[in-house]
Amino acid sequence: MPLPAATRDALISLDVHFFEDEPLGRRVYWRVGGPADGFVLVRDLDALQQVIRATRDTECPSFLLGKGSNLLVSDAGIRGLVVSLGGALAEVRNLGGQPPRIQVGAGLALTALLARARKEGWTGLECFAGIPGTVGAAVVMNAGSHLGETVEPLVDIDVVNPDGSLHTLPKADLQMSYRTAHLPPGAVIARARFQTTGADPVQSQASVREFLLRRKATQPLNLPSCGSTFRNPPGDYAGRLIDAAGLKGFTIGGARVSERHANFIVNTGAATAREIRRVIEHVQARVEAFSGVRLRREVHYAGDWTEWPATTGSS
Ligand SMILES: Cc1cc2nc3c(=O)[nH]c(=O)nc-3n(C[C@H](O)[C@H](O)[C@H](O)COP(=O)(O)OP(=O)(O)OC[C@H]3O[C@@H](n4cnc5c(N)ncnc54)[C@H](O)[C@@H]3O)c2cc1C
Repeated sequence: MPLPAATRDALISLDVHFFEDEPLGRRVYWRVGGPADGFVLVRDLDALQQVIRATRDTECPSFLLGKGSNLLVSDAGIRGLVVSLGGALAEVRNLGGQPPRIQVGAGLALTALLARARKEGWTGLECFAGIPGTVGAAVVMNAGSHLGETVEPLVDIDVVNPDGSLHTLPKADLQMSYRTAHLPPGAVIARARFQTTGADPVQSQASVREFLLRRKATQPLNLPSCGSTFRNPPGDYAGRLIDAAGLKGFTIGGARVSERHANFIVNTGAATAREIRRVIEHVQARVEAFSGVRLRREVHYAGDWTEWPATTGSS
């Protein structure tokens, strides 16, 4: 659908670079999904506040896209404006102190943050290893692994509210727990501050290297996926439950439960978002029937799913 004319005019007057009818499949890890009505890359805080205000004033929905590594975008795409962060909102600043505290733009890729940390000898950010997303989404998800969670180094965040105002929230206000954080409704994370530690950088880098090698051996990193599809239930692993239910290799169209790691659903080439969602729901139903555990999704659904529910069925 076209962007509302008022939103288009407002974006033109703000002098931000935007695209209309922008395909999203190439911007998300599963490589599926329809177009966004509008797509804008925002390069500084002032522009972010103005764009958010413009969408509110013109009653245009907006959606914040990171790297799309935890997102299933519907085949119909996303109505309204998709916002992506870059420029100054993807930069790192050393705020000083020993060990230093750092401020990071929410649009920065975690891989880039880790590369910078390696160069500077900063430690305490190992929890981000192997996670292909952005800093902002890492806070949203309290992303992490065996090496730790985002909540550990996090100090506080700057958020832009739906009215465009800027607000700082200490991490205690986010009530972060396993893959969960509580943000005010509609808030966009613009920046986050982290406290590094004084640990030995050589040891830190060695543990990251060993962790990444282990992942490479156990995860299907050669095919598009969003990593773990489901959260691990308390005291168990989603992958183990899916395997036990006999679902490794289960396929609908181009969407398949990975043979290598059962909690990964991979796009074998030409999957649609609908096929991936059907596999997700089939896995949930079969695991629940087999073990009594209802798996909770880790990946987010985005976009227009009004045509759902599907006529389910396996193949
Ligand atoms: C191979 C692979 C391995 C992975 N391994 C892990 C892992 O070990 N641990 C782990 O936790 N995750 C893992 N993931 C999942 C994913 O990388 C993380 O959840 C990551 O935090 C998502 O970041 P993103 O930038 O891609 O977010 P997106 O997928 O773009 O967005 C996710 C959600 O966050 C919201 N969002 C994004 N940025 C902001 C912002 N600035 N303000 C407000 N809301 C925002 C979006 O609107 C969306 O709802 C893996 C994924 C893959 C593909």
